[in-house]
Amino acid sequence: MRGTTGTPELPWQWPEATWREIVGKVRAGRSLKPGQWKDGARVAVALSFDSDHESGTLREGESSPGKLSQGQYGHRQGVPRVLALLEKYGIPATFFVPAVIAMLYPDEQRRVVSAGHEIGLHGWIHERNSTLPAEAERDLQQRAADTLERIAGIRPVGIRTPSWDLSPHTIAISREMGLLYDSSLMADDEPYELLENGQPTGLVELPVEWIRDDAIYFNMDRYSALRPYTPPMSVLEIFKAEFDGAFAERGLFLLTMHPHIIGHRSRIALLERLVAHIRGHAGVWFATHAEIARYVKAQAGSP
Ligand SMILES: [Zn+2]
Repeated sequence: MRGTTGTPELPWQWPEATWREIVGKVRAGRSLKPGQWKDGARVAVALSFDSDHESGTLREGESSPGKLSQGQYGHRQGVPRVLALLEKYGIPATFFVPAVIAMLYPDEQRRVVSAGHEIGLHGWIHERNSTLPAEAERDLQQRAADTLERIAGIRPVGIRTPSWDLSPHTIAISREMGLLYDSSLMADDEPYELLENGQPTGLVELPVEWIRDDAIYFNMDRYSALRPYTPPMSVLEIFKAEFDGAFAERGLFLLTMHPHIIGHRSRIALLERLVAHIRGHAGVWFATHAEIARYVKAQAGSP
């Protein structure tokens, strides 16, 4: 219902200008896929861990100790196992952390940063930002950046929006804050420049996809029919195939995981096998999201 004349319009009644405006609000611009990756590497690998922990429960206004304990597992077992694996293979990664989780577990964030990993924005309390008024969204995003900087000692340069949701204001807020990159959208496999209302924003998009997310394969809900439907080793096959495609195309392989999900014994094993598969290839550049965003932006130069 977007009619401005007082007459409600349904989507099939929209004039061309209306649907063009909607589609053009936030759009993929030029590809930022470089001619070659750093030091002549053939493929770039960006592993990310969204340290949601208890925030997925808190953001729903729930207080169930059982659900919260599933989140705390991410701190007690998930992050330590992930950090141990990354250290074993000398791989840098990016952790996207809601501010409330950073405040619950400040030592965890300092440990992540001291191990050489990046910390990026992931909302205040994993709020549903697409439902917020612009002022509230701006306030939360700025306070989250201040909080991560205070706790981790480094101001974040990138954002992954909670649940990959964007409001009509999210990109404008990220630009106001001078961020380098967003990693929440899905218009490509390769990095690209975000356009807002047809204009280049200078923001690098490092695209995600549900296919390359551990949560969709393993999540369950006690009171619905939602149950894990893919065995861990089948998820490994999917992730390997996504990497193999990126390697063949000399592109980017970006994978989203969650410590409270991937950190279980049966699943951290699949991550280790994936890392072994990737390391079996020559010309792999493991990097943080910020390193990749900086590299592709420098390679591409100005539009
Ligand atoms: Zn999340």
